[in-house]
Amino acid sequence: MKIIVTDPIARQGIEILKASGLEVEEKPGIPPDELVKIIPDYDAIIVRSATKVTKPVIGAGNKLKVIGRAGVGLDNIDLKAAKDKGIKVLNTPAATSISVAELALGFMFAAARHIADATASMRQGKWEKKKLKGTELFGKTLGIIGLGRIGTELAKRADAMGMNVLIVDPYIKKCAVGEIRTLEQMLPKADYISIHVPLGDETYHMVNKAIFNKMKDGVIFVNASRGGIVDEDALYEACKSGKIGVAAIDVYEKEPLKDSPLYTLPNVIGTPHLGAQTKEGQIRAGIGVAEKVRDALLEKN
Ligand code: NAD
Repeated sequence: MKIIVTDPIARQGIEILKASGLEVEEKPGIPPDELVKIIPDYDAIIVRSATKVTKPVIGAGNKLKVIGRAGVGLDNIDLKAAKDKGIKVLNTPAATSISVAELALGFMFAAARHIADATASMRQGKWEKKKLKGTELFGKTLGIIGLGRIGTELAKRADAMGMNVLIVDPYIKKCAVGEIRTLEQMLPKADYISIHVPLGDETYHMVNKAIFNKMKDGVIFVNASRGGIVDEDALYEACKSGKIGVAAIDVYEKEPLKDSPLYTLPNVIGTPHLGAQTKEGQIRAGIGVAEKVRDALLEKN
């Protein structure tokens, strides 16, 4: 059976497929019209986020049984078209949870110790010890909205560092660390708030002006989930007014982000959607997707 891999995945994943006797062809960056032409030859396609597995691709895939996505989001795959043809769509939702949790934690440290500002200041040859005095995370209260895979990893790490962890997640009944609170209870108490919910109708713009207004003055707000969850205009206003002390942002409603007013503000720090971008996370995703696609093709489950 033949598999086409159209975005770069970890070598270890490719090796797993080949070792199972599956034929693998790597064609990163293949143009969409060419993919439609050659897809009839393949039993499976493996992608990351760049390749769009569209209706025409799926329609032309006469032998296609499996679509593998190394990573979490499935927005580059036409799920309805796949379902209509009975094609399995497999992803690796847990592969990068630790990577994202560590970025959220990194943001919290960076905000507390002004690491980005201090670096910029050093580059200008300055030595601003007084201006850059920071705070400890120890003893502070962290509100985590969404206790799924990533929220759980963050909660464990924050608890180990001596933070008081408040969890907001209406779909869970208990948590191993921290205490469960409602959103209304958590907002005025937290020194740090980090959001880790999926983007959907219920969560679109769930962090908006009214929610920012209920937060503590000077709160440190972290978003490494999805852009649409936070109303960016309201975020800008809350940062500008000083309601938010520091906003640390990895994800944006429109990506790649261009000319955003957010980055004109001194109290916004951020990254270009780097949450899952670690060596370890990508290896885990590559291995995970290869094992799942192999098992599905060889009908191990
Ligand atoms: P998950 O599905 O494991 O957990 C999500 C949690 O949110 C669940 O426990 C759910 O009960 C909870 N939830 C749903 N609606 C809620 C609401 N209204 N209020 C509070 N809690 C709510 O998801 P995950 O794997 O932990 O991912 C979390 C987010 O991180 C997702 O948006 C995902 O797309 C994003 N993500 C970002 C990156 C990145 O590169 N920055 C990488 C991977 C995932």
